[in-house]
Amino acid sequence: MTTISELAGQLKKRYSTVRRQSINSLLSTLGKDNNLRKLMTDDAFAKKITSLLSLMKVYQDPSSQSEALDIILASPVYSRLDEEESKTNNDDYTDRLVKQLLKWFKEEFFTWVNKPDCPKCGNTDQNTIQQVTPWRPYKKEHFEGNAGVIERYRCEVCNHTIEFPRYNNPSTLLKTRSGRCGEWDNCFILLLKSLGLKVRYLWNMEDHVWCEYYSTNLDRWVHLDCCENSFDNPLLYNRGWAKKMSYIFAISDYYIRDVTDKYIDKDLERTIPRDKMSEDNLAKLLALLDLSMLSKIQDPDLLLEVSSDLIHDYRTMKGTSAKLSSSRTQEIMIPRQSGSVQWTSQRGENGH
Ligand SMILES: [Zn+2]
Repeated sequence: MTTISELAGQLKKRYSTVRRQSINSLLSTLGKDNNLRKLMTDDAFAKKITSLLSLMKVYQDPSSQSEALDIILASPVYSRLDEEESKTNNDDYTDRLVKQLLKWFKEEFFTWVNKPDCPKCGNTDQNTIQQVTPWRPYKKEHFEGNAGVIERYRCEVCNHTIEFPRYNNPSTLLKTRSGRCGEWDNCFILLLKSLGLKVRYLWNMEDHVWCEYYSTNLDRWVHLDCCENSFDNPLLYNRGWAKKMSYIFAISDYYIRDVTDKYIDKDLERTIPRDKMSEDNLAKLLALLDLSMLSKIQDPDLLLEVSSDLIHDYRTMKGTSAKLSSSRTQEIMIPRQSGSVQWTSQRGENGH
């Protein structure tokens, strides 16, 4: 006699087998496309997109997640949530948790660094700290923290050379707690992951990064910018900062989406031409990358979960144009908060 749960298990297995077969068959069809193969080996933009796929791996490390969780538990985030609760706040608990985390992260935990202060004489005057030629990582701590480059500055007051390693290991960033948008986003994603949330890394061609988390309450991916304490405000850049953008990709653990439309207000015509490759080739490339990642998932349960997330994503992306948020103009029209005035205007992000 077969029990219901055994039957469910058999159905699930059968379903995941069928799905795996269709993934492999689509993958083999796309794999025969010579044009696509050439693109993947020769085209710099295609290589860049492919390299983004590995961005989320680092956050899966259990010991990094555990360090991150300890920091959240020791922070005032949960006690503030409890205080809110007593004021009969009806918003969803997880959404409120993420909002509290954003606020605490920006106001108390992480520090923005344009140029580092001088640790020797205590000079904090940015005008007398001059950037000099950067170095490659050379110390043990640089390698452990996966530093990409060691920025160097000379203090004109005491002549000391100040080093500012640009760390990429999010676990190191839990300790250094400083940097620019790359470090901020990187560390914040680890904190979100440590809470067991679904998170994705948002990469913009025009040198900005942020993230999104999946709100089960809102049943969609929600924009989060920890440098700006910004929750669900996707037009922040295009409208608020007057930032022109061309390509924006969302990278999850197992797939990648082109989410540019969500972040661009088409009426403003603040775009940069998407001329890195044809839209047809881009769509094929993204499909190939998704399929090759899906094909590597061994666990049938995970395969079913990820593929239904992917389908849900396609459905909810349709019709999620930037227009949906147009009622929130007041909040959106905020110029960039993080970084100095000089730095933001150089980047064309000061709202003019
Ligand atoms: Zn100094």
